[in-house]
Amino acid sequence: MSTIRGVGIGQGVVVGPVARMADPLPEPADAASTVGAAAEVERARVSLGAVAEDLRSRGAAVGGTAKDVLEAQALMAQDPTLIADVDGRIGTGRTAERAVHEAFAAYRDLLAGMGGYLGERAADLDDVSQRVVAHLSGLPAPGVPDPGHPFVLVARDLAPADTALLDLGRVLAIVTAEGGPTSHTAILAREQGLVAVVGAPGASDLADGDLVIVDAERDVVVREPSAAEQDDARRRAAEREALATAPITPGALADGTPVPLLANLGSADAADAAVRLGAEGVGLFRTEFLFLDRATAPTVDEQREEYARLLAAFPGRKVVVRVLDAGADKPLAFLNDADEENPALGLRGIRSLRAHEGVLRDQLAALAGADAATDAELQVMAPMVATVEEARYFAGLAREHGIAVAGVMVETPSAALIADRVLAACDFASIGTNDLTQYTMAADRLLGSVAHLQSPWHPAVLRLVAEVGEAGRDLGKPVGICGEAAADPLLAVVLVGLGATTLSMSATALADVRASLMRFDRADASAIAAVALEADGADEARAAARAEADRRRPPA
Ligand code: PEP
Ligand code: MG
Repeated sequence: MSTIRGVGIGQGVVVGPVARMADPLPEPADAASTVGAAAEVERARVSLGAVAEDLRSRGAAVGGTAKDVLEAQALMAQDPTLIADVDGRIGTGRTAERAVHEAFAAYRDLLAGMGGYLGERAADLDDVSQRVVAHLSGLPAPGVPDPGHPFVLVARDLAPADTALLDLGRVLAIVTAEGGPTSHTAILAREQGLVAVVGAPGASDLADGDLVIVDAERDVVVREPSAAEQDDARRRAAEREALATAPITPGALADGTPVPLLANLGSADAADAAVRLGAEGVGLFRTEFLFLDRATAPTVDEQREEYARLLAAFPGRKVVVRVLDAGADKPLAFLNDADEENPALGLRGIRSLRAHEGVLRDQLAALAGADAATDAELQVMAPMVATVEEARYFAGLAREHGIAVAGVMVETPSAALIADRVLAACDFASIGTNDLTQYTMAADRLLGSVAHLQSPWHPAVLRLVAEVGEAGRDLGKPVGICGEAAADPLLAVVLVGLGATTLSMSATALADVRASLMRFDRADASAIAAVALEADGADEARAAARAEADRRRPPA
């Protein structure tokens, strides 16, 4: 038995055998063809066709967004310009493998140079190229393996497209050596209710067939566990399943203090599932996803339609829509400058919207139009606010468009440190703990090598949350949490103890957080928060909070 440490996503625990994501193929040698150009052209044609066909049939089998992604990849394998380039390179004496590799790489560099959404598609071209070269060489295709039974997927890292395409009937859990807890891959995993441990460098030593326990709650992967450890893991998994079917009640502490539990959504399509899981409204609607695959912003009409669809799913409920947060890990070619050296510190969020005020005005107009046509309680908020003046600017513009409630996300230490003044300039604060942790700890949220610094349990982050909580209490204004921290059941209690009035999370986390809040009253929450605040580091804060929680309310 050995234990591998990482960062758990969600609370699940799973026992199963490992199947590793194949490592990328080596670059094909630049050797002269031994079979002649005509035969190489024929080999390339056959393999390109076979890969396109395979991608298409895999897409047809899964359907939904995955189908669109795979069909787009199939088209890449049949792109006439690319095929002509492959033929041309074969004509100069290259093998089919080398010609495919070079032609796709050239096109990839072209796309990558365009930046933004098109730049991100460069990785899809690499994937197609690898598949074709594997087919030509008679090797297994890279990517998610298919061992023919349920398995724990172990990879160096996963592209968001890989995560979105996983067959949830087969993949029991994912373990990645790289990747941080708030990377968008981790967010997707949580959204799909997948058990995951990310940023676990020791995962590189796991081999196909190894039996492991993936324990997201305890941030570990246990290799070759004992029979007793397996029994314990299976018992905990069964308990969680029972929790998922427990009756849904509004979020509240044991003494009845309401703590509305809201959903983080990225598309109106997910609204019905969130309502089924007991979301009492929406605490964060990420609007970037409407803009991501575009060369220009969607029209006011298109946006209004999507927002109205969202609002219609929550009659009489609060729905907080975040205006576009372009930049850093969500670049948009038409808003962001691809040459920024530190995009996370650049023209991101409200900064980039101010530089393109027409886009912001259109978005607010579309939101106001959707609000007028539906019965939800619309609120809007701005991302990446760092100054009082930005808060005032955004609230003023929202009011100008007839939107009554406008707040700001607290994602920068500066906004937290002067939360009293920021909150005085708007109606509410919603703390984005993903970015607040990134900026407080100066640790890139996408970088596995600094994943150990990205914990919202760090007392420096908690102290900033407390500042905002206190300002909210003094001014009588709501303070929500909408980062991934709200989805951690024990941390959720701490956040309430620090002054959070609502919690918003991936809908799959609602049941765990609801059950956890019900165990503690307000005095418990304050005491648990106090011991966490006093700790030296993130691990110590979590351990102290756990000990205080168990002392006050011993587990059943
Ligand atoms: C956050 O930063 O905590 C947040 C909720 O926003 P996003 O994850 O979309 O950056
Ligand atoms: Mg953020």
